[in-house]
Amino acid sequence: MVNVNKDLCISCGSCVAIAPDNFDFDEEGLAEVKKDELNDDVKEAAEACPTEAIEIED
Ligand code: SF4
Repeated sequence: MVNVNKDLCISCGSCVAIAPDNFDFDEEGLAEVKKDELNDDVKEAAEACPTEAIEIED
């Protein structure tokens, strides 16, 4: 399970850059999950997120 807590997202774009298959921006410029899949890129994006807005769960 992959989730973005939009209350924490600051639209930095890291997750979209690291895992473009899995994250995209919504109409407000906040990140959202495009494909709910726990892969290495998603794990890297979660670690790279400056506000820890990406929640992942096996
Ligand atoms: S890396 Fe975190 S703060 Fe940056 S756009 Fe993605 S969810 Fe938002």
